[in-house]
Amino acid sequence: MNNQYCKKCMLKSNHPGIRYDNDGVCSICRGHNEKDMSSNYNYILNDYMEYNAVPPRKDGNYDCILMLSGGKDSINMLKKIVTEQGKKPLAYTYIHPFESENAEKNIDKVLNAMDIDHVYFTSYKKYKKLMNRVFTSKTRKDKYQAEKAPCIACSYYMMLSACIFALRMNIPYVMYCADPNQMLGSDSDITKIVDYLENIVGMELLLEIFGEPLSELLNKNRAKPKIIFPYVAMFGKYDGDTIITELKAEGLYETSPIETGCSLYALVNYYSYLKYDCAHFALENASAVRKGIWPREMAIEVEKKFKDAILIIASKTEINERDKEYLASVCHMVNPDSKPKAQYMFNLILSLREVANKLEIDLNSLTANYDAE
Ligand SMILES: [Zn+2]
Repeated sequence: MNNQYCKKCMLKSNHPGIRYDNDGVCSICRGHNEKDMSSNYNYILNDYMEYNAVPPRKDGNYDCILMLSGGKDSINMLKKIVTEQGKKPLAYTYIHPFESENAEKNIDKVLNAMDIDHVYFTSYKKYKKLMNRVFTSKTRKDKYQAEKAPCIACSYYMMLSACIFALRMNIPYVMYCADPNQMLGSDSDITKIVDYLENIVGMELLLEIFGEPLSELLNKNRAKPKIIFPYVAMFGKYDGDTIITELKAEGLYETSPIETGCSLYALVNYYSYLKYDCAHFALENASAVRKGIWPREMAIEVEKKFKDAILIIASKTEINERDKEYLASVCHMVNPDSKPKAQYMFNLILSLREVANKLEIDLNSLTANYDAE
């Protein structure tokens, strides 16, 4: 059964890591994929409980590094650590070349309102080298979330950078605060994170990028920082909308016009269509259908048009007015309630080639190459 849509949600039958039963229903709708993730979840929960049980340090050193992205989740957790837990975090912001401007504005608000130490970190050329390799490397076809490899690799890269910093500063925990819905299936175990990246880009490149500190981080005899995913651990209690309302009331947060402000948006979608014939957010879209937020038929229709638009923009060096009109109509379909969101998405998709050039990726030579697995 190929290229059918799940009868309950709208995931395609060829979606990576998803199985279909004889009734045409996907393994997520049947609740099977959650079980695959439970060992992951137990590991994450154990580390989170350990972190909570440790009292604030008395030696004046930081209790944890908090990865401050400027999104609602990291800002909210920073506030919690200081006011509820009485701990001393070091806020750490990794700036990558495709960051949204909104995130920086939010970080300024937080730094003005709270008395916390904060460092910015960037490694522009290394980051680009890694991401170039991720986009152009062979990937495994059958793995759950394989279509999200660029995003996962990017977040793992930032986590490892923070862990190396924590190791040097003798800080025992690194907090990574993304929305649990986006983090399901991600690893917080440093060894597994390195394995994941090694599988895609190879150890040689990882050592070139991180150097000796990576070997120290992997040294079994050395105590290493632990990565904590607090919102994944608190999965059932997570409520993104309430977090936004509270932070806005305190003047700590402004919503961006679009959920993801990352300018790799169009490129990650092109990657997922090319390699896996699905949208980057196909799992999230299917989940919205399952919850009744999106009517199934409409989601399928929008998905088809969105795919066309991405492939048209990717295939042309000159975008003509007709293509732009089509793209605008698709962005409007995806964001029927918000013109600014539609416009923002339009601009992100139109800049696909420019963004690919920044990563020195030739769109014409990107192919759907998989590892023989
Ligand atoms: Zn389904």
